[in-house]
This record gives sequence, structure tokens and C-alpha cells, in this order.
Amino acid sequence: MASIFSKIISGEIPSYKIAETDEFLAFLDINPNAKGHTLCIPKKEVNKIFELDEKTYLDLMSFSRKVALAIEKAIPCKRVGISVIGLEVPHVHVHLIPLNSMEDARFVNKESMTPEEFQNTVKAIKSYL
Ligand code: AMP
Repeated sequence: MASIFSKIISGEIPSYKIAETDEFLAFLDINPNAKGHTLCIPKKEVNKIFELDEKTYLDLMSFSRKVALAIEKAIPCKRVGISVIGLEVPHVHVHLIPLNSMEDARFVNKESMTPEEFQNTVKAIKSYL
């Protein structure tokens, strides 16, 4: 069965898209640790990050870096953190999280955002890409 992220890629499920290439997609996490929390995924559906072939792994990191630099410009934060977990969705994804404190990295305190806030966040990040 296609992962929820494959359904986002195909457009079956909506998302707040930040960036897209033939191979990768970046979109806002729907239950963010902090405003601007973004997921970068390969379109190829692979469960665990270190199962990716080396080229796709390195290209995913390069794609994530570009998105992270835009997030850092668009969202007030001390830095952008990077996490790979994957316990909930078995489709490789890199979490890019604007950090102001260690709490933002803990996946415990979640930020509540309206659809309008999500849309404005997309616009702000995209303006730096
Ligand atoms: P994990 O697999 O533990 O790294 O977490 C999966 C992440 O995907 C969580 O932060 C969720 O909030 C996020 N997520 C799940 N479904 C969606 C969705 N439809 N759109 C955006 N983010 C999602």
C-alpha cells in the first residue's frame, strides 16, 4: 500500500508544498514542533534513510540543505535543526525544524497553526528559494 507521503506526492492527499524536483519534495509538517517545520522526502518510497542508495541519500541531503537555508532566512530562529526518525511514517523523511530552544527538537510540544498560517509560512520560505 502506498505510504501517506506517496499519496502527498501523487496529489491524492493535500499538503503545503515548499519545493519540488523530479526526485524530491519538501512540504510543511502538519503537526509541527515549531512554525516552519518542514519534511524533505525522496519521491522513491523507501522505508529507512540508510536503505537509500548512496546517490539518492546525498542528493536528499543537498536538497534538504537548500530548503533549510531558506527556512533559516524566513523564520525567526537560532538555527535549523535536522532529525530523521521515521517511527510513524515508513517513507524516508528529513525533519527540518527551526530551533529556538531544545524543546523545539523534542517532538513533544506541538505548535498549533491555522491554514492561513501554514499558507503564509509556505510563501515566506518559498520567497528565499
Ligand atoms: P516520524 O515518522 O516519527 O518521523 O514522524 C512523521 C511526521 O510526519 C510527523 O511529524 C507528522 O506530523 C508528519 N505527518 C504525518 N502525516 C502528515 C501529512 N499528511 N502531512 C504533513 N506531515 C505529516
